Amino acid sequence: MVIEAAMSRPANAAASRRPPWIRVRLRAAGHFAKVAQTLRVTALPTVCEEADCPNQSECFSRGTATVMILGKRCTRQCRFCAVKSAIPYPVDPSEPERVAALARELALRHVVVTSVTRDDLPDGGAELFAETITRLKVLPGVTVEVLTPDFGGDEHLVATVLFAEPQVFNHNLETVRRLQPAVRPQAGYERSLKVLSVAAAWRPRPIVKSGLMVGLGETDEELMETLADLRSAGCRSLTLGQYLAPTREHWPVSRFVPPEQFARYREQALALGFTAVAAGPLVRSSYRADQLTAEARMMANG
Ligand code: SF4
Repeated sequence: MVIEAAMSRPANAAASRRPPWIRVRLRAAGHFAKVAQTLRVTALPTVCEEADCPNQSECFSRGTATVMILGKRCTRQCRFCAVKSAIPYPVDPSEPERVAALARELALRHVVVTSVTRDDLPDGGAELFAETITRLKVLPGVTVEVLTPDFGGDEHLVATVLFAEPQVFNHNLETVRRLQPAVRPQAGYERSLKVLSVAAAWRPRPIVKSGLMVGLGETDEELMETLADLRSAGCRSLTLGQYLAPTREHWPVSRFVPPEQFARYREQALALGFTAVAAGPLVRSSYRADQLTAEARMMANG
């Protein structure tokens, strides 16, 4: 349950009911062509493309992308996610170097690395995360954010990633406690909180970040309880966005939350002690990740 962004294109009748604030204007400007072409050349999948993220053109145009390692096939079947569930291919040990080559080629300043969940691997892919972080951190001026799976809640595997010292450790809780068994049946609310608390207790402490979706059936009260639980786990950076079902077969959208309500959620999250919060209908876990990291760092230093 890594890819909260996996939920974008209007593939069903609900699309016609989408409110105007959900419609995405596609703009290809700035670095868009270069990022798209370099991704093709390096043959690296991005969550932007795999999850059909609505912010693709904006992020590519800003010269940022979230790179997926460990392949495109996930061993889990979260009900909201557009990523394919199938038996994964073997790990490609060249991925860390190819990610670093991509970052060099595009002169990226903040690189987000994520993956599907690899329950088939003894280490859940933790070593490849660590190797990728290490390769990126030697690049001058580059900060690294990882958006990880839960590694089955194994603290040692979480520690394997943290040893490499990413500046941001992100793991998405995705939804409120009550909906977890139905929406992410192979994950767990407490398990994800534990992963985040391991990161928050690590020294040097990374910025600990998580993401939630609204529109899965949660109430506002449940949402506030979840924010409080994230704060108790040591999480201080947050993304909050609208869930959009990728197809009719996915979990249905329960409500569309207007931008002004997202603004209220943001204020409530800040009041709970989060130091950097991105909240809005089209916000996804790595949306403007560079800006959110800069905000969290400024608050930590200030
Ligand atoms: S664990 Fe797999 S199915 Fe669940 S959100 Fe992540 S990529 Fe999608």
